[in-house]
Amino acid sequence: MSDPRTEAHHAPAALRLIADAAPAYLDALPGAPVQDAGIHGLLKALDGPLPEEGDGTLDALAKLVEVGTAASTRSTGPRFFHFVCGGSTPAAQGADWLTSLLDQVAGLEAASPFAAHAETVVLGWLKDLFGLPASHGGVLTPSATFANLTGLAAARAWWAEKHGVDVVADGLAGLPRMPVLSSGYLHVSSRKALQILGLGRDSARILTRDDAGRVDLVGMENALRESGPAVIIANAGEVNAGDFDPIEHLADLAHRYGAWLHVDGAFGLFAATSPRTKHLVKGIERADSIASDGHKWLNVPYESGFAFVKDPEVLRQAFGSWGAAYLAPADDDAVDYNQLGPESSRRARALPIWATLRAYGREGHRAMVERHLDLARRFGDAVEAAPELELFAPVTLNIVCFRLHPEGVGEAELDELNKRLGQAIIDDGRVFMGTSVYKGRTVLRPAIVNWRTTAEDIDYTVAVVRELGAGLT
Ligand SMILES: *Cc1c(COP(=O)(O)O)cnc(C)c1O
Repeated sequence: MSDPRTEAHHAPAALRLIADAAPAYLDALPGAPVQDAGIHGLLKALDGPLPEEGDGTLDALAKLVEVGTAASTRSTGPRFFHFVCGGSTPAAQGADWLTSLLDQVAGLEAASPFAAHAETVVLGWLKDLFGLPASHGGVLTPSATFANLTGLAAARAWWAEKHGVDVVADGLAGLPRMPVLSSGYLHVSSRKALQILGLGRDSARILTRDDAGRVDLVGMENALRESGPAVIIANAGEVNAGDFDPIEHLADLAHRYGAWLHVDGAFGLFAATSPRTKHLVKGIERADSIASDGHKWLNVPYESGFAFVKDPEVLRQAFGSWGAAYLAPADDDAVDYNQLGPESSRRARALPIWATLRAYGREGHRAMVERHLDLARRFGDAVEAAPELELFAPVTLNIVCFRLHPEGVGEAELDELNKRLGQAIIDDGRVFMGTSVYKGRTVLRPAIVNWRTTAEDIDYTVAVVRELGAGLT
């Protein structure tokens, strides 16, 4: 029988198994296909009944290393452009292993002063990186979905208080529907947050003036005039074309009508790190709450997100005061981060963020963002130069929205053709991107977010897309 107690001496060898497998995996990443053709066959190696007698530490791990290094999607490699997925910088990856080694119970100062302090430090660094006031409160979350949830939960507590209700203690019963206003750029994760908060997935009123989803500011102002206290969700970085809501204007409206402004900047917040794109998030420091991701453009491993709020107290109001005697609040300097966000027990996800910011600094992260801006331009230029490809939106950030549009193929057939192209790219596996619907049309929308991506990767990717496109027409 295998028992962890009798196998304690294998712990270093267990870690070494991973470390020994890492060089080959990492060395192959730049050249390897994103997904191998035989993937589904490989997965069968995980199957089988729950073992009665275990295989033991090293055998079990060796099996997982073998299957994992072969079957994993190489989304940390340089040619995974599907969704908006970052890679993992060497420092962040190392720190993520350390996070597992130390296995801190982050969230309670008493359980890990180290994790709590690291979280305070990185939240300060991130505010600095994005040009947000140091006085803002914040908390690390597993993702931007959770960060949107955090910001909107704070908004909900603020709004209910305007109606004389303590929503944390008493819930939403008896309250009117919370007015939520946004543009057509609203991300599904904000809808999910509204759904979880009991406000309704479809409750947001979308005020838009065109088929791209750009905000209708006049309509927004009219709605605010009538709504009473309301919540505006601004979107910094729309997922199909990378465009931004005009945050400054929305901050003005929020100020004029006493509304709460929440900004979803899952990846778009990183525009603040470069003088070339800073104007896109102008006014963001005036937002009441801001959500963003670490596992996207910061290039730290999953899962990593963060939320900031202008009034730090409102987080404690929304998530703290559970009243459990064994969870007494930490004293003044110390922070129990599990009182400031939706999680209770949580991992020390500050460590990879600390490591990557310490390793590469403000300049390193600015340079990475600017390299991605350049690569997106390069991709866009290559699309424009290819007669059968059509750039479908201007390249404003790191997303290239385009489609296959060969001469003589009518509008009616293009959506189907592009869906087939998207599937062909994924089946092929050399590069990875998927389709979306933008302005009612099926498009491809690669997002460039990975520190490893080079100009050669972009040129290769365009060549693969053209080759696969040619095979379909
Ligand atoms: C990715 C994304 C989210 C959700 O982030 P997760 O980390 O996947 O939860 C929210 N908003 C926008 C604009 C995004 O791109």
